[in-house]
Amino acid sequence: MAQKAKIGTMWLGGCSGCHLSIADFHESLLDVLDLADFEFSPVLMDTKYDEIPEMDVVIIEGGIRNEENRELAEELREKANFIINYGTCSCYGGVPGLGNLNTVEELEQEAYINSPSTVNPDEIIPNEDVPSLESRVRPLGDVINVDLNVPGCPPRSDVVAEAVVALLKGENVELPTTNLCEV
Ligand code: SF4
Repeated sequence: MAQKAKIGTMWLGGCSGCHLSIADFHESLLDVLDLADFEFSPVLMDTKYDEIPEMDVVIIEGGIRNEENRELAEELREKANFIINYGTCSCYGGVPGLGNLNTVEELEQEAYINSPSTVNPDEIIPNEDVPSLESRVRPLGDVINVDLNVPGCPPRSDVVAEAVVALLKGENVELPTTNLCEV
């Protein structure tokens, strides 16, 4: 029996909705598991970010909002042979990209001081134990080379499952040219 591929998932600057679409693979997940084992995923297993293994394929959700996102993306590029740029946030910046309408200072003021639900009488903006925001949100492909773009918010589970199975079989991956979104 051929050795199984090693695959993983990762979330960066997203909402985790793209990972829910992976959970929605349903029975297609069995087709994936016939060909590969999940080695790394913040959703599917106990994952330590300082122990990222070598993998054949990684599906990455979310763009680059902070320095941790960027460092993890760069390490995943070193560890993975094939990266699927997964979802509209990862491909284009998506909803987090709206943060580019404001400066980092304005965002921090709003999040930590001005928002009605915030209680912060000393007006402390944390700068330790919280990754620093990058000056602007960037799509994943602006920071590392990616091998396949799959936009959608979130992408359609059936399309992605078929793409992953084709990839693992060494076949051409063909995506629909329209209607890649789940809803
Ligand atoms: Fe969430 Fe949509 Fe971004 Fe995926 S593309 S992380 S579902 S906002």
